[in-house]
Amino acid sequence: MTMKINGLDLDRAGRCRHYHSELDIVALKCEICQKYYACYQCHDSLENHHFQANDIESDKPVLCGNCMTYLSFSEYQVGTCPNCLHRFNPNCRKHHSIYFKGD
Ligand SMILES: [Zn+2]
Ligand SMILES: [Zn+2]
Ligand SMILES: [Zn+2]
Repeated sequence: MTMKINGLDLDRAGRCRHYHSELDIVALKCEICQKYYACYQCHDSLENHHFQANDIESDKPVLCGNCMTYLSFSEYQVGTCPNCLHRFNPNCRKHHSIYFKGD
């Protein structure tokens, strides 16, 4: 299976060198390059533009790194992957303004 998540030092669930707790398994899509990244820091060091937040109404702005299922913002907000039931990191809410707009 090809890795759909981009980032630095990723493990098999998409955790990167910046965020790597048990719950840090989601990847977020940049509106400009339409790629999924483990975090905005990974994105900004590998791309030539800054991470651009996606509108929360956009199609599947989140990717579960545990089962590689694409998720809508409302599915992600539940806090648990609807497919593999892995929990997401609730602290990510602090970074909502980086990853999403329109919230
Ligand atoms: Zn980008
Ligand atoms: Zn990172
Ligand atoms: Zn999942």
